[in-house]
Amino acid sequence: MKPPGFDYHRAASLDEACELLSACGEGAKILAGGQSLIPMMNFRLARPRVLIDISNIAEPNPVSEEPGGIRTRATTVQRVVENSSLVQEKLPLLSYAIRHVAHTQIRNKGTIGGSIANADPASELPAMCLALDAQFELRRHGARRTVPAAELFVTYMTTSLEADEIISSILFAEPPKRSGWGFHELARRSGDYALAGSSAVITLDGANRCTRARIALFGVAATPVRAITAEESLLGQVHSASLVKDAAHLVQGVLEPESDMHVTAAYRRSVAEVLTVRALDDAFRRALAAR
Ligand SMILES: Cc1cc2nc3c(=O)[nH]c(=O)nc-3n(C[C@H](O)[C@H](O)[C@H](O)COP(=O)(O)OP(=O)(O)OC[C@H]3O[C@@H](n4cnc5c(N)ncnc54)[C@H](O)[C@@H]3O)c2cc1C
Repeated sequence: MKPPGFDYHRAASLDEACELLSACGEGAKILAGGQSLIPMMNFRLARPRVLIDISNIAEPNPVSEEPGGIRTRATTVQRVVENSSLVQEKLPLLSYAIRHVAHTQIRNKGTIGGSIANADPASELPAMCLALDAQFELRRHGARRTVPAAELFVTYMTTSLEADEIISSILFAEPPKRSGWGFHELARRSGDYALAGSSAVITLDGANRCTRARIALFGVAATPVRAITAEESLLGQVHSASLVKDAAHLVQGVLEPESDMHVTAAYRRSVAEVLTVRALDDAFRRALAAR
């Protein structure tokens, strides 16, 4: 199927894209990699009146280090972040998780900002934003603001972005020293969206007690979710099988999965807990090995 008709503008800079977005008003949409928007237009699930193409904007420093962590420009394609040696060294969880997004060809076109703005609850990157305390820099014509990940994802494929706002960059916090990470997802086939997924970041002190924990899940509610009660149950504790099992059980409190043509909600609940046990065990193991 072909999309309904639309006007098309190619922006030469993010400033120009913001100007166009503000001038075109209701019905205008940003086109980044087109890997989600174009299929939705072809299925007529999205009917933008105007497309503002930002895919040719070459921004300097697509991935850079700064005191708060690692900043990626929103227009950076996913494959560049996946292959960045800086990301592999400082944010191995992000580097590993991106490899689970679709297929290489799609990651060569799809952008970091596009995946986050698309806010599919089964997507890996929005959940990584929660696990890594990300902050988004949002821009509109003549203004900027910073929003933490916890405030961006509102409900199914909906963010708190205003209609004339663009995500310009994402700052991922680098976890403290002696941190370890874990990531597990279940998908029907490699490259498919996850049926459910879980990730964890654990930080230990010199006595191997947990001082900081992040648990973020995807595919199990209308948004990616952080399991804060489960995180808190780990604080001050040393790793044990029962500690991890009990914490993973606590994630049930934040899950609101749905049944669909693939699996039931009950199955998603059960898988999410198992994946959280695995993610936590991996995160503790890596943190224990870290110096
Ligand atoms: C076969 C297939 C399998 C896939 N599997 C997965 C998967 O397993 N996991 C996964 O996470 N994703 C998956 N995807 C989606 C893929 O990751 C997309 O690349 C991503 O969702 C959208 O990125 P994009 O740059 O292509 O954005 P686009 O499709 O261009 O845009 C998506 C939405 O974001 C908005 N947007 C884009 N950039 C910005 C910005 N900077 N600021 C504000 N709004 C913006 C657009 O207006 C649009 O509403 C899959 C896609 C396909 C086709």
